[in-house]
Amino acid sequence: MIKPLVSSTLLALTLCGCATTPPLASSPAATPIAFAGAVSAADPRAQAAGEEMLARGGSATDAAIAVMLALTVVEPQSSGIGGGGFMVRGTEAGGVETFDGRETAPAGATPEWFLDPDGKVPPFIESVRSGLSVGVPGNVALAAKAHREHGKLAWAELFGPAIRLAREGFEMNPRLNGMLAMAKDRSAHTAAARALFFDASGNPKPVGTRITNEPLARTFEKIAAAGPEAFYSGDLAQEIAATVAADTPHDGAMTYSDITSYEAKAREGVCGSYRGYRICTMGPPTSGGVAVLQILGQLERFDLAALGEQNPVTWHLFVESQRLAYADRELYLADSDYVSVPVAGLVDPDYLAQRSALISADATLPNAVAGTPRGAPQSLSDGDEPVEHGTTHFAVVDAQRTMVSYTSTVEGPFGSGLMVGGFFLNNELTDFSRSPEVDGKPVANRVEGGKRPRSSMSPTVIWDPEGKPFLAVGAAGGATIPVQTARSIVGAIDFGLSARAILGLPFIMAFDDKVMVEEGTWLEEQASAFRALGHGEVFVREAPVKAGAVLRGPKGWDSARDPRLDGKIETP
Ligand code: GLU
Repeated sequence: MIKPLVSSTLLALTLCGCATTPPLASSPAATPIAFAGAVSAADPRAQAAGEEMLARGGSATDAAIAVMLALTVVEPQSSGIGGGGFMVRGTEAGGVETFDGRETAPAGATPEWFLDPDGKVPPFIESVRSGLSVGVPGNVALAAKAHREHGKLAWAELFGPAIRLAREGFEMNPRLNGMLAMAKDRSAHTAAARALFFDASGNPKPVGTRITNEPLARTFEKIAAAGPEAFYSGDLAQEIAATVAADTPHDGAMTYSDITSYEAKAREGVCGSYRGYRICTMGPPTSGGVAVLQILGQLERFDLAALGEQNPVTWHLFVESQRLAYADRELYLADSDYVSVPVAGLVDPDYLAQRSALISADATLPNAVAGTPRGAPQSLSDGDEPVEHGTTHFAVVDAQRTMVSYTSTVEGPFGSGLMVGGFFLNNELTDFSRSPEVDGKPVANRVEGGKRPRSSMSPTVIWDPEGKPFLAVGAAGGATIPVQTARSIVGAIDFGLSARAILGLPFIMAFDDKVMVEEGTWLEEQASAFRALGHGEVFVREAPVKAGAVLRGPKGWDSARDPRLDGKIETP
């Protein structure tokens, strides 16, 4: 078992480059503390796993992988090795790489995959709680590929904190407890999960209970010792395929060879600029990165800093830009290995300027429809992908100022509810449009064998106008993800806010022609201002959002997790 090299307090002090770092009481007064990096994760125990890797001399990639593994244990509702993710890496010199560990549909899947025998789309939850929703998991392959290229520590070392948490136990927190109860149809679906998380009377184990997950500790040990092959072949892969197939109601179910043939892919990053800052993010099969660049690009001609952070007009402009970006997203974004996605056209500054011209500071666009970017394919229809709430985002900067931004997911809470080896299997395939065509036109994001479902995840890294690493950011929360990410970037660049403040900015988003504003924030009082600007229906609710960031402020790097996480159970 790996022991931490230094106490967690010392780690926090040496790792935090933030303004509030106190001097180390026990260190010689004249010895400067070397910057070891900063880690943001939704759960402090997973953050500590990443910090431990940095303290051992690991790279940002090592730390991010250790966080992903630890989150499989302590935040199983959101992400894990039974799911997938996207990782963006940006170096101090400006290099960018992006890794696609998105789940894939089995080779036997067809566009009618989710339809009832009578050709109808069933209720959403029926598709979720089924082998039909499970894609071949991608996180272990992503981690292995990224580690081969950028790991400094031994592969097995990255598993140390996660194995410790699984074997020695971790405390049930209110968030996990609440999600176990809220999504019980998935969290308690298998005997294996009931044994881990529920008491004899069928209730989630109380907050404060020590939870151990020995099956997961053993799974990790196998993958740590034998490499990713222990996941993508052999007993575990057989068990995944058999478990999924047993729950799949028609032909084409996931096979062993679907799992052995899985590959994480290196993709070209999608980059743009905003007020002189260089922004690089993830391209298809996620729609998130393109949407973030579009929202920002369309906003650039407005002086948001002058308008101010507490001005309804600022957020009206933001919403209008988001509506335009989402109209494009609905129509064009899908797995670019299967359909032609006009990425370059969608983020082209001339196209964004044309789109931006549709935005007015004192009126609302009656109808935000998709544009026609260069390279747009003809004859596509919008799909029927739902808004879901799962997922987790983490971000790391290391001593070399390499930034890693990684969003990891099992899709909805506890994924499909199916469990193998102590981890939940995702329901990522419900991110496809379950309707293969609408009005006789194909949907770009329809199911196809081997295809990756469209995502909203938007892990992003940013350099300041001098080219220095500045921000690694992203979010969880389904379709809200690009909005949260763009909002956080506006907070950092336009308003110069701290890491925690950019994540804590009130949330606002348009859903079709309705605007949601976050309950308990100053926006709530502004419904009439938004209506006066032409927004028909403004509704108030708690925001299902969760972002994470590491940000370089005037006094150094700081990390933060979404302030909404503190003590809230309804955040995924
Ligand atoms: N599966 C979703 C996606 O890839 C994320 C789910 C969520 O965050 O709720 O976009």
